[in-house]
Amino acid sequence: MRGSIRLFNIFGISINIHVTFFLLLLLFLASGVRSLVLVIGVFFIVTLHELCHSLVARRFGIEVREITLLPIGGLASMTRMPEKPSHEFFISLAGPLSNIALLGIFFFPMRLILGDYVLFHPLSVATWPLTFAHIYWINLALAIFNLIPAFPMDGGRILRAVLSQRIGYQKATKIAVNFGHIFALIFGYLGITRMHLMLIAIAIFIYMAASGEELQVDIKETLKKFRIRDILRREFLTVAHDATIAHLLELIFRSHQEDFPVMAFDRAVGFITRQDVIMNMRDAGRDSVLVRDVMRKDFPRAGEDDTLMKAKALMEEKDIRALPVFRGDVVTGVITLEDISRVYALIGAGGAADDGKKNTYSSEYTVGGLF
Ligand SMILES: [Zn+2]
Repeated sequence: MRGSIRLFNIFGISINIHVTFFLLLLLFLASGVRSLVLVIGVFFIVTLHELCHSLVARRFGIEVREITLLPIGGLASMTRMPEKPSHEFFISLAGPLSNIALLGIFFFPMRLILGDYVLFHPLSVATWPLTFAHIYWINLALAIFNLIPAFPMDGGRILRAVLSQRIGYQKATKIAVNFGHIFALIFGYLGITRMHLMLIAIAIFIYMAASGEELQVDIKETLKKFRIRDILRREFLTVAHDATIAHLLELIFRSHQEDFPVMAFDRAVGFITRQDVIMNMRDAGRDSVLVRDVMRKDFPRAGEDDTLMKAKALMEEKDIRALPVFRGDVVTGVITLEDISRVYALIGAGGAADDGKKNTYSSEYTVGGLF
């Protein structure tokens, strides 16, 4: 995510911290070291929660690139959404289960070390033992909050997974989204009547995230109805493998095409995208660098009969903005993310403008419990 700094890597997943998170830390540092430890403790739990989602997702073949910590919670960026409801069910459940596991594991040790008086004391950071008891109970709040059966909480995804078996994915999504809107309105009402800014922020966040989920599903349904051959432009250019980058630039300027299959003896041997060209632009040797030196030799390919949904998912997964399209071994065109966006901008999903951003998965919105 833009504006975030990598903290460390675990299980091949980058744990990032968003710059706005430092503001939160500063805010809490101002109210004392124990408050700061409280925030760090809670976000340690949030990271663990996201990590559990991510590891289960990976078991189902979904790659997770990064987990970002935001002031409002954590966010695991997955390369695609789970296709099977059962996968979504287990991925979503894994997060709250991690909180419940922590509750169970630490209950007796906490009682033993802190004593009942401290553990069941009203929440406070007045002493160190009270601070740790506080973190323990926020963990419980995280588990409960995330099990609320409404989007964008994990419980909303669990609800959708269960309902979609009976009434279909789209209808199930609508119900979980409506619940999300209702909860957002309740939080908003509570926030306004109690002048609780964080609660208001959370309400807005939930409302928007729930709407976003609905949009994503509408887009998906629209894109399933079309195949690549329905929108594929038949006139397209290819570039020879021994052409220079300067020549390719000229092609880009003269045509409206920015991504090219690379040919050698009538065979597609590579693919070069706008991203690849931009990356090699800064080099001095624009005239001496050849297309084959910088092209992608290992590139994803689409078939004419693939749905737009499949093409979009493939682009997101491979982090590429265009795909060469094949019929058998023959290249028949190039499809880009913009081509796909045009389809649902024109006919589906309420004129949504999509920049091809990544699907992001779980989020926590419970930091409000701290205030
Ligand atoms: Zn979660």
